[in-house]
Amino acid sequence: MSDDKRYPKRSAVVLKKEMVCSELMRIFLQLESVYELPSDLHGRHIKLFPFRDEYKKSYTISSHNEDVISLDIMLHLNGRASVWAKDSALGDLVDILGPKKEIKVPLDFNAKEVLLVSDLTGFSTMEYILSKLDPACRGDLFLICNTHIEVNNPTKVKIHFVSELDYDVILKKLKVDIHGHIILGSDQIKSFVQKIDRKFLDNINVKAYWKTK
Ligand SMILES: Cc1cc2nc3c(=O)[nH]c(=O)nc-3n(C[C@H](O)[C@H](O)[C@H](O)COP(=O)(O)OP(=O)(O)OC[C@H]3O[C@@H](n4cnc5c(N)ncnc54)[C@H](O)[C@@H]3O)c2cc1C
Repeated sequence: MSDDKRYPKRSAVVLKKEMVCSELMRIFLQLESVYELPSDLHGRHIKLFPFRDEYKKSYTISSHNEDVISLDIMLHLNGRASVWAKDSALGDLVDILGPKKEIKVPLDFNAKEVLLVSDLTGFSTMEYILSKLDPACRGDLFLICNTHIEVNNPTKVKIHFVSELDYDVILKKLKVDIHGHIILGSDQIKSFVQKIDRKFLDNINVKAYWKTK
């Protein structure tokens, strides 16, 4: 995707940092200018340039209020962006590219039932999806996380905190609710799809959270 379909690169200041849990850091960034930006950036993807050079990583905006956005960053061991998130000081500058001007979400928000599976890299996306679904929507969200964390969930979707994915448990859900949608919150758990019986794949809509088609 060429940059002309995104909002231009801008700098931002680290305003506040807090731990959501030991693996997830929420960083509030004050954007240099909100000129041309839509009023609600929640759920949009941006590229973060933590060192203001070529190194960039994608993140999802977890909240937006005027010129301040937050990112929920999963702290991977040795990941350069993760180390930056841990070590950055209030007042540090970063660069941000995006988001794309169009918002595309790979899910039918009118779905009556969903099956969502994510690690903490997809936490913001999962909260965004839950905020957009019909409040009557049912189903399950399996969140790979070693502890219980607060999730904004206005729906009837049940949240399960699991330290690792139990494929049998999820497959059982699929056997009961084969008409649901499934969204995967990370590349790492894409292999899960390969384990799903082909007959279920015909009836469900499997998407990685960043895929737009
Ligand atoms: C559209 C989009 C939106 C995203 N939104 C978010 C977001 O809101 N929050 C967020 O935390 N991440 C998000 N990600 C994922 C994020 O871009 C990656 O986690 C990124 O690679 C981390 O960069 P790093 O420099 O810290 O680690 P890297 O140098 O890329 O990786 C270092 C090591 O960390 C480990 N690692 C990397 N990714 C994962 C993972 N998913 N699970 C387990 N271990 C891993 C691996 O061992 C890897 O070798 C998003 C990705 C995309 C494509």
